[in-house]
Amino acid sequence: MKQIRKDHAPDKAPPASAARRIPSVDRLLSNTTAAPLIETFGRSSLADAIRADLARIRAGEVEAGDGETILARCEAALKAERSPSLKPVFNLTGTVLHTNLGRALLPRSAARAVEAVMVQATNLEFDLATGARGERDDHVEGLIRKLTGAEAAIVVNNNAAAVLLVLNALAMRREVVVSRGELVEIGGSFRVPDVMVRAGCRLVEVGTTNRTHLRDFAEAIGPRTGLVMKVHPSNYAIEGFTAQPDPKALHALCGERGVPLAEDLGSGSLIDLAAHGLPPEPTVSEALSRADVVTFSGDKLLGAVQCGIIAGRKDVLARIRKSPLKRALRVDKMTYAALEAVLRLYLHPETLRDELPTLRLLTRKRAVIAAQAERLAPAVAERLSGHAVVAVAECVSQIGSGALPVETLPSAAFVLTPVGKGKRGAGGRCRQLAERLRQLPVPVIGRINEDTVILDLRTLEDETGFLSSLSTLRQ
Ligand SMILES: *Cc1c(COP(=O)(O)O)cnc(C)c1O
Repeated sequence: MKQIRKDHAPDKAPPASAARRIPSVDRLLSNTTAAPLIETFGRSSLADAIRADLARIRAGEVEAGDGETILARCEAALKAERSPSLKPVFNLTGTVLHTNLGRALLPRSAARAVEAVMVQATNLEFDLATGARGERDDHVEGLIRKLTGAEAAIVVNNNAAAVLLVLNALAMRREVVVSRGELVEIGGSFRVPDVMVRAGCRLVEVGTTNRTHLRDFAEAIGPRTGLVMKVHPSNYAIEGFTAQPDPKALHALCGERGVPLAEDLGSGSLIDLAAHGLPPEPTVSEALSRADVVTFSGDKLLGAVQCGIIAGRKDVLARIRKSPLKRALRVDKMTYAALEAVLRLYLHPETLRDELPTLRLLTRKRAVIAAQAERLAPAVAERLSGHAVVAVAECVSQIGSGALPVETLPSAAFVLTPVGKGKRGAGGRCRQLAERLRQLPVPVIGRINEDTVILDLRTLEDETGFLSSLSTLRQ
């Protein structure tokens, strides 16, 4: 029986000949090629996709074609709709901690820990010993204390949230003293002066861009001061005629005046990176020896998930914990599970380099990466033939996320020079190649440099996955 349903009727009647050529939704649904689509996507979704396609035909946006053609378009649309938007990519940009590509990679043990607490109830805020209510920070506080020497620790959504909470809880409607050399912007949306305003604090700038002295702080600290803050100038460096007060002397001054000293460390390494052949970066324990509260990110050098950690003196953290903002900035059980698993790896320093992806990738030697590049070059060249010529070259990687901005790590890369001619020019061909690589099943993200696409192999571990993704490049 043929049904004619009102809701399928077009608003405006198309020309009689065209209308005759457009099949009805019901006819398309009973087409034999529709059966597997109904099985996969469900009848109502397919009907919606057909209606949308018929509307485009009537609007003259696509050629009608036969029933099979329409259903093929519907299948493509339904597949696109169902493919995940957030997905894995190969980060071959040379920036190990790439904020836009999700920063630190988690070890498998952390991913397993996250999965375990996701699909079952957990003791997130439940003390198994007493059966009473627990504190979510208890799951990681002991580890953070042990690894940093802090008396207490709080975890929030990210380091920006950690800074906001510290400022708001310790210095709302009060003054915060900061050196002019440390009023930095980190990644566009985090500017120290703006965060101060949002936290309800009054910024008191001292010193100059290049030189700030202890006496500048001594003169600025007064009865209205709530906090003195130091900011690690993550993504830039001031060189030459510079001065900052001795950190211990500043800490002592704050102690005498009864004002807490907070340090925003940004990256927060828990270990001495120099011992791993990397450029030195202040560790959380070092910062804690000269500050009362230290804030740092969980997904930068620490190598865990997005979160912000506030570590420091017990009495100061107790004040922070009471802030109503703490509740608004708290993190989920998944974050604690991943963070706890990563912190546990630090208990075994001998295996840390192998187990923690961030440290493993940062410490790969150029010779090892170059050998990998030479070994893979023929297979990569074959998959890229018709698209680009592949060469192996030395390059430099960056740590990223504002850590150690002036330091680079020697590495090796594939340099892809696009082939072909045409009016696009070398630059256009290069952008097109980069785009094709971004459209692979597991997108490959490189960087463009002088009409070539550079794929830095420092961060390439899944070689099989990389080659099979490249294999799907269309000719
Ligand atoms: C990265 C950074 C931040 C922001 O940290 P998020 O974890 O991205 O919120 C704040 N301060 C400093 C010094 C940083 O390096």
